[in-house]
Amino acid sequence: MNSKTKIICSVTTALFTAAMFTAPAMANSNKANPNQSAWEHANPNAAFLRCGTADLTEREIQAAEEQFRQFSALKGKPTKPGSGGGGGGDGGDGGDPTVRPAGSVSIDVYFHVIRDNNGNGGNSQADVDAQMAVIDNAFSGGTGGTSTPFTFNLVETTYTNNSAWFTAGQGSAAEVQMKQSLRVGGPETLNIYSYNVGGGLLGWATFPSNYTSNPDYDGVVILNSSVPGGSSAPYNEGDTGTHEVGHWLGLYHTFQGGCNGGGDQVSDTAAERSPAYGCPVGRDTCRKGGEPDPIYNFMDYTDDSCMFKFTAGQAERADAQSLVYRK
Ligand SMILES: [Zn+2]
Repeated sequence: MNSKTKIICSVTTALFTAAMFTAPAMANSNKANPNQSAWEHANPNAAFLRCGTADLTEREIQAAEEQFRQFSALKGKPTKPGSGGGGGGDGGDGGDPTVRPAGSVSIDVYFHVIRDNNGNGGNSQADVDAQMAVIDNAFSGGTGGTSTPFTFNLVETTYTNNSAWFTAGQGSAAEVQMKQSLRVGGPETLNIYSYNVGGGLLGWATFPSNYTSNPDYDGVVILNSSVPGGSSAPYNEGDTGTHEVGHWLGLYHTFQGGCNGGGDQVSDTAAERSPAYGCPVGRDTCRKGGEPDPIYNFMDYTDDSCMFKFTAGQAERADAQSLVYRK
């Protein structure tokens, strides 16, 4: 097991709820603290929480998926419903005719490096280039997973000296101000912000469906020391960036929903009861007769050295989400 703690990822539940649900019942979400869920899943042995991106309730998931299906139908894009038990694990590689061809969708990226008032603490251009290479390689299947439609085109790296932004917490006024000032482009444009995020978090992201109601907030935040060669071992090979971009394209955590319900809404990622940390080979927390937990998947919480793949089902979902919300 890893010796450090991480909150790998956090999606902002409060913003997510406000952004995507119109049904009155959904307004009563009791997840007031965006980070609470992430902390509940924190590795007790670790120094980081991998992700602040929200783990949604089953009801929130169902509302989101219903909206997704409705929008998909309006755009003439069929989507497959969730996998039922989410236990899948029945393979399904080999591509899907409904997915755009591998590498055919180029996403423009603006990478915003935040430093303190004295210009200290920010990533270098070499860091940024290395981070983008990791993300691009992951989505291309270069690390051993499915070749997705997505490639990433770094248009510009910006550098900003602002001590308040340099430590902006998730959902803070400073974060909102930073994004309002720096964000470039529409829903199809990826903005990444790197700085010394607080709270032990490695990063967080917004979902595609969040964009319409809160466009300025759209994007990915990563801890600056999570880039390749950074100081946040074992989370310093750049996979925080990959994981958060996965959220930005509509992917849920592989442990979403635990062993029950529709899970992560992807049929070929085995269900798992809770996040996996370290690299626990053979872990099988749902025991439904399917495959072991998807510990090698970028959307789990394992060490960077452990995670290396997206599945065909994730590529299909990300493509469908992108076609609906990011065009
Ligand atoms: Zn996450």
